[in-house]
Order: sequence, then C-alpha cells, then structure tokens
Amino acid sequence: MEFVTDLHLHSKYSRAVSKEMNLYNMALWGTKKGLDVLSTADWTHPLWFREIKQELVEDTQGIFKIKNNKDFLTRFILSVEISSIYTQKGIVHRIHNLVFSPSLKTCEKIQNELIKRGCNLASDGRPIVGLSSIQLMELIYSIDEDVLLVPCHAWTPWFALYGSNSGFDSIDDCFGEYADKIYGVETGLSSDPYMNWQIKELNNRSLISNSDAHSLPKMGREATVFVTKDGVKSSELRVQSDDKKLKLTYEDITDAIKQKPDGRLKIGYTIEFYPEEGKYHYTGHRNCNFVQDPRQTKLDGNICPVCKRPLTVGVMHRVEELAKASKFPDEISKLNDNGVKWIIDPTRNHPPFVKLVPLNEIIAESLHSTVSSQKVKDMFDLLCQKFGSELNVLLKISIQDLEKEAGPRVAEGVDKVRRGNIVILPGFDGQYGIVKIWDDKKVSEKQEETKSQLGIDF
Ligand SMILES: [Zn+2]
Ligand SMILES: [Zn+2]
Repeated sequence: MEFVTDLHLHSKYSRAVSKEMNLYNMALWGTKKGLDVLSTADWTHPLWFREIKQELVEDTQGIFKIKNNKDFLTRFILSVEISSIYTQKGIVHRIHNLVFSPSLKTCEKIQNELIKRGCNLASDGRPIVGLSSIQLMELIYSIDEDVLLVPCHAWTPWFALYGSNSGFDSIDDCFGEYADKIYGVETGLSSDPYMNWQIKELNNRSLISNSDAHSLPKMGREATVFVTKDGVKSSELRVQSDDKKLKLTYEDITDAIKQKPDGRLKIGYTIEFYPEEGKYHYTGHRNCNFVQDPRQTKLDGNICPVCKRPLTVGVMHRVEELAKASKFPDEISKLNDNGVKWIIDPTRNHPPFVKLVPLNEIIAESLHSTVSSQKVKDMFDLLCQKFGSELNVLLKISIQDLEKEAGPRVAEGVDKVRRGNIVILPGFDGQYGIVKIWDDKKVSEKQEETKSQLGIDF
C-alpha cells in the first residue's frame, strides 16, 4: 500500500503565495491530485494556526482532516518552513528548515518559545528567525523529543544547507552536536536523488521530495511516497476504502524518514521534477542572460563575463564540488509495463525515483495552449475525475485508456514524459528551466538561438 505525501507547502500567509491556498482548497486539490497527506504549512503563523485549529480535527495521532467532511481523502501533518539567518564563524548563513510537530500543543509551545526569543511570527507564514540551525534544534528538541527537522531544498544557492552562497559544506558544520538528529534532507526542485546519492553523508539518511508549492496546481509536483513494509498488513493502516479513513500516524511518517527498523512504513520512492526545470540547476546570471554548465564553470571559473561579478553557482556544480569527484556509477533506469522510466540507485542504498512533468503542463503543450486556459483546466479536471487522480494519469493508467479519453496527442505527451523523452533548457539563477515535450522545429530553433546567445551546449 502506498501513501503519497507532499510535506512542504505554503499557506496564503506566506509571501508570494496564492490567496487560494487555504485548508479546504488544499484538501480538495490534494484529493484530485492523489495526495494522501499534505503539510498544513505555516503553523507558526498566528492567523493560519487559528484556521488550522478551527478547520481541522485530529484523525489519528498527529494526522488531521477537514472537520465535517467525508469527501476528502487527503489528510494533514503539521510542518512549517523556518528561515534562519545568522552569522557563524564570521560567515552569514541563510538556511531553510522544515519542522514537523506531533501535536497542536507542541506547536503552541514552540511558538511561545520563538516569541520569547524575539521572533516575529506574524510577519510571514515562513518566519525569518535569527536563531542558528543549532539553536533551532536545541529549542524544538527541548520542547518535544518527537519533533523532526529536515533541511529544505538542500542545494539552492541562497537559502540552504549545501547552498553555494550561504550554506555549509556538511551537516556536521551546520548542525554540530545535533547532526545525528538530521535523518534526511529535502532534495528540492533543482536536484534529483541521483545527484544526492553521490554525497557520502547522505548515504544513511533519507531523501524526501516535496513541492514547496505556492499555488494549488503546483502541489504534488514533487512528492514522497511511503509504502508499507513487508509483513505489515495494509488493513492495519487503512480500513476499507469506502470508509476513506487513514490509520497512519505522524509517527509512521517520521519513523520512515528516520528509517527506524520497527516502523510500519518506509520510503518506497519519490516523484521528482526534472531537476533541469528547477530555478537553480545551472550556474549563471539571470540579469546578464548568461548561463554555463558545470564543465564550463570548472574551466572558466565563476565570474560573469558580462558584469564581472561572481555568478550564482548552480546546484549541479555544487553537487559535483561536494561529491569530490567520487566515481559514482551511472544511474540505472528501467521502464515498467506502463512505459514509466524508473531510476534506480546503482549502489542499492536509496529508493528509486521517477521524473514527471505536471499534467496541466503536458495538456497545455499538447493542445497548443496555456495552463491558465479554460480548455486545459477542463481537460485536467476531466482526466483526474475519470482516472481517480492526476498521479494515476501520469503514472498508472495505460496509454490506450488515456487516449480514449484525452485523444492521441495528450496520450503521446504523457507517454513521452513517462519515458523521459523530452527536451529541457536548464534553469539558472532563479529562472525556471523550460520543458518541451515535443522537440518540434520551432523548439529546436529556439534552443539554437538560446545556445548561440548563451554559448552553451545542451
Ligand atoms: Zn525555502
Ligand atoms: Zn553578470
């Protein structure tokens, strides 16, 4: 049995987040997308926390559901992203961490303690605090041993554990004596698990993937899928489907991330964005319209030829730097019966993953339209309804069945995405990469143009 989770989201109280991000809509879209458990997000924010308490009710230990609603399958877990900005040994660090809480009571205690330390929790759903990552660990663990902290989008240049501009080189450097309580990291949109498999200190830690969505359609673009371990009866975790009641608990999820031997779940696989599509995959300067791949960064250094200032070093280069040229074996991939390309850890140390493009983007390109057009939205809703969820359409149903409902072009698009048969212009310095499912003439020309402008090989 699988439980698909998206454990890092934002509410309407975080900066640059859609006003539609409220708990009811999140549950509605979570159900449509096939997400079993979502982050409540932002539980440190006083107004949002009030909404959490008003609208949700605890279903099983640490897992919440919308009050008085039997239709939504989606449940919630309490997690919040906290941004720490601080100086350590003379260097300014900006680290984002995801903090999971087992109960509303623990949330309240943590909120009070943060306020005592001068943190302004009302300013943003993702609060900025002056506490170091070590101080934050100290604070939350002194309140409740069952909390869990996972560094967010571990590789982004400006706000992350391994970030090229404000991060550290290791979990020990960042978390000191608490390093052994860092059981996993979030890989983020610009890196995929394969890149992270190459980092030694992550060998015995979990890799989780979440969407960090700021709007409803983007939820689930990355996700962590937990599965029951051998010998655990599915019925222990979910009663009959007509009851629609999840029995899994906060502890099940955190135990799986901690890889506890006696836990009931483990991470089965993760669903990934194409890392090239992420905003910081390659090195570059957005304003100078300059981008380079890691090979060029090695050869030419990281000074921008346009403005002569240091480039924003991308995730791919940074991974290579910290992997210290380890001769990590090439990825192994396997197509399953549905034509989905699975990427498998050649060292068999971590669970596999699959790379997807959101269904609304596939439909938009198939129909030569945009994700905001009504016909794309209608087709998206129709397919989610017909086949149960977005993730079923992307991963599980047969292409023949999809073709009957959506026509040959959308079916071909989904098939190409499943097989990884697509073209991507990598993102850099805050600019998302561009995914093209059909490498038609126009796309090739566009790439040629960009290549010559940017002097880069794709
Ligand atoms: Zn963040
Ligand atoms: Zn520049």
